[in-house]
Amino acid sequence: DTMTPINNYTQEELTKELQKAKEEYASYQRQNLNLNLTRGKPSPSQLDLSNDLLKEMDGYLLEDGTDARNYGILDGIPECKRLFALLLGLKEEALIIGGNSSLNLMFDTLSSLCLFGTGGEKPWIYYSLNGTPVKFLCPVPGYDRHFTCCEELGIEMIPVPLLDDGPDMEQVKKLVKADPLIKGIWCVPLHSNPSGVCYSNEVVSMLASMETAAPDFRIFWDNAYGVHHVYEEVSLKNIFEECQVAGYPERVYYFFSTSKITFPGAGVALVASGPSNIAELKKHMSAQTIGHDKVNQLRHVKYFKTPENIRLHMGELAKQLRPKFDLVETWLDRELRGTGLADWTSPKGGYFVSVNTLPHCARRTVQLAKEAGVVLTKAGATYPYGKDEADSNIRIAPSYPNLDELETAMKIFTLCVKIAGMENILETKYNH
Ligand code: PMP
Repeated sequence: DTMTPINNYTQEELTKELQKAKEEYASYQRQNLNLNLTRGKPSPSQLDLSNDLLKEMDGYLLEDGTDARNYGILDGIPECKRLFALLLGLKEEALIIGGNSSLNLMFDTLSSLCLFGTGGEKPWIYYSLNGTPVKFLCPVPGYDRHFTCCEELGIEMIPVPLLDDGPDMEQVKKLVKADPLIKGIWCVPLHSNPSGVCYSNEVVSMLASMETAAPDFRIFWDNAYGVHHVYEEVSLKNIFEECQVAGYPERVYYFFSTSKITFPGAGVALVASGPSNIAELKKHMSAQTIGHDKVNQLRHVKYFKTPENIRLHMGELAKQLRPKFDLVETWLDRELRGTGLADWTSPKGGYFVSVNTLPHCARRTVQLAKEAGVVLTKAGATYPYGKDEADSNIRIAPSYPNLDELETAMKIFTLCVKIAGMENILETKYNH
């Protein structure tokens, strides 16, 4: 009977159904569970697949004889640049290998734009100090930590809808053409966090070629899930080539890391950009550090050797993730399909599933789940300033728990969506 849209229920049927759901909910509450679907962390068994990285490394000399143990080389060891340039279709000279975190590179890049500006334009902080802060477009739902970077630096955020093939480009094009204070946009072009959206060729071309009122408009291209295919390999148009053709070689900062390839927080990260941007970044970086962890860069090169090996490794990781995504889909389907209480994404890769409840039901759902021992990402987190006007989006991260834990968590989650939805219908339709 879950296939009947709940909106078609009579008040009496709905009250009875809610009562039943609440009894089931109470039985879960009595189990004192402690389950967590919040952050997209690899499971311990996924991490185990990279354990050879921890084995004693044979040697510390680079190909050219440089001693990786000592100071030197600001922008990354050549063999590490080559490995990732080949993997991602980037130019080695367009690359800086940084430290252990791409988010760190994003924040540093953004703060250097605020402090120093780029391409001879005014530092972005100038506008904030004058009371008219610069703005970034934020496709929503999106990654909460991107939004936190902007908030911390006083960059105003404008949400734009993320459609099935990328940001709503009609809106984006109109906004960036009209407003010189719009200086950038956040993009997660493959298997986006949280919806799993992959940008189409058309969207990539439009982003690369659109007319912007700000000459220093920048795309923050966070390809965090660039090789993280779980069900299906999805290709992505090379945005640098598109920018080159369109005459905007400095438009993009491209970020990537091995956080969800090897060890999150102990991998290597990179930024790629146009020649002028890279020169600027290196100058700022040279004031900030003598160099990043070359030993870890070399360790990753010795471990993977070739881009093909990275892809094979991703295939092994995908084998572990697939049953978890299957399970999430199974329970959403079994409990919620056809009810009209929620819809959700079926990602081809990445780390997340995005669920939309009825309006005004996300916060209540998350609260209910918490009180039954299932911690979910805070409702609203996928929107700038934590403000989901519809109060509808919830991000599910299925990677960390084992299958038993995940199944219990999904039973409880779907039950909470139903309870929140039915309560809401009873309130709004029957003024309960
Ligand atoms: N970007 C996105 C879209 C993410 O989901 C995450 C979290 N894994 C990061 C960046 C953070 O990456 P890193 O560990 O390289 O800082």
